[in-house]
Amino acid sequence: MMHDDIDGIIWRCDEGTFPEPVTASTFVEKKLRVGFVLVPGVDVQSSKQAIELSQRFPQIKAAVGIHPNHCNDSQPDDWRTIEKLVGGCGVVAVGETGLDCYWDTVPLSTQHENFQRHIKLSRQLRLPVIIHCREAYAELMPVLRKECVGSDPLFGVIHSFSGGIEQMKECVELGFYISFAGAVTFGNKKFTTLWEAAAKVPDERLLIETDTPFIVPTPYRNKLESNEPIMTAYIANRLAELRHTTLETIAEQTTKNAQRLFEIVT
Ligand SMILES: [Zn+2]
Repeated sequence: MMHDDIDGIIWRCDEGTFPEPVTASTFVEKKLRVGFVLVPGVDVQSSKQAIELSQRFPQIKAAVGIHPNHCNDSQPDDWRTIEKLVGGCGVVAVGETGLDCYWDTVPLSTQHENFQRHIKLSRQLRLPVIIHCREAYAELMPVLRKECVGSDPLFGVIHSFSGGIEQMKECVELGFYISFAGAVTFGNKKFTTLWEAAAKVPDERLLIETDTPFIVPTPYRNKLESNEPIMTAYIANRLAELRHTTLETIAEQTTKNAQRLFEIVT
């Protein structure tokens, strides 16, 4: 679903301005900016919209794919369309794809089949893959162990990471980047294992994201229904706390990492 204020969102990225109702004055003083935004698809329609956005705004790059929770609704021609779209201008990654055992809507065998198509496409085009993994690490890790070896390993990012330190370490060893969304900003102690993992990701593998419209970070949680790129400042700030460094350092590292992984030239 296309957000109704894309111009405002991009303007706030450029200006470092935060949406109401949080004014974020300490961040405004730091003159933070979001240099570029990666918009992934979850089906054919949203993949096309991601490409359209990348054509409208130089700051936006696209990824195309069919999300594991959407692969049951896809039509026979949809995958062929994704294969055509992936070669288009502005597309820098394949995804979202992956596995989801939280929502019990799509059989795992269908999800694996869908995931394998994306893996093949990522390899053919040498594009990074954006992996969604929700309560599915037991299913995901054997796939990654098999696909990330040899002369042509699968590479990419585990997006909106929700695992613990052991899973993080293994994903990093297999070559993956680890991306954190709003959950690291939540104060609830049940997120302790996520905080521990976030503290230990190697500097050169760390990424941040919104995962909009989900997981609105603190202090916007329960105030706004969806988040937007400038709010990653709160995720970067929380990572800085957990990693005993500065917000500026996290901003610089994650920007460099995203540029390297997605080959974004600014
Ligand atoms: Zn996802």
